[in-house]
Amino acid sequence: MLTLAQVRQATATCWRAWLDAVYPRMCRVCDKPLPERDALRPLGEWFCKDCEEDLDKLEPPYCKVCGQPYEGMIESEFRCGNCADRKFFFDFAVAGYQAEGSVRELVHQFKYGKDISLRGALGDLLQRALQDPRLQKEDLRGWCLVPVPLHRIREHEREFNQSWELCRQLARRTGIPALQVLRRKHHTDKQSRLTRAQRLENLRGAFALRRGFQGPESPLKNGKVLLVDDVFTTGATTDACARVLRREGGAQKVVVIAVARG
Ligand SMILES: [Zn+2]
Ligand SMILES: [Zn+2]
Repeated sequence: MLTLAQVRQATATCWRAWLDAVYPRMCRVCDKPLPERDALRPLGEWFCKDCEEDLDKLEPPYCKVCGQPYEGMIESEFRCGNCADRKFFFDFAVAGYQAEGSVRELVHQFKYGKDISLRGALGDLLQRALQDPRLQKEDLRGWCLVPVPLHRIREHEREFNQSWELCRQLARRTGIPALQVLRRKHHTDKQSRLTRAQRLENLRGAFALRRGFQGPESPLKNGKVLLVDDVFTTGATTDACARVLRREGGAQKVVVIAVARG
């Protein structure tokens, strides 16, 4: 007797083989066809060997709070100058890659080019963030994946919320449940034209819990959250989200994971 999981696996394999025959797989960076044996490498489904080696991995040493990488040998845990006197509502932030070169380009194509076919590749890249030793120690099946929400007008324009797509990809790979817990109340247009102070002011109060996650009975209470974003830059947006998750939802731990560190 086949289990449901085995049937699903077999169906996925047949479907994949059919797709490969009809649309040969191309490297998502250089567009060269991917040899079949490449599928055996962890990222071989998406990238040729050369392009995979060119991806800027985020390697230690990096700041234990914001993940900012540093050159050279630093053996002990440290906080960078930017975080030293800042208090974040999240515990720490990690990313798999640096937002440079082809990783930056892929995220851009996904988000602004609306190329949803990149979600699988980016989901695999995001998974690298889970290799952080602090997360490796945890049983992540008891955690939940929560996306940074977009305002519904922005989501409508963009056709999908890139963070939610990434959550769903990671949920399929890891079994960690993905939940849309937050909503964005304000449609903050043209954020990039504002000064840093104006941006922060705008973000304060921009997020709220969705119905079903509010109140003292919130399923988030004492929960552990992996807050998912595509790129982590200043941490202002994720911090505003983490504040709501903790203060209003009662989450006990919030860790930000992103595909790339900007
Ligand atoms: Zn390539
Ligand atoms: Zn830092």
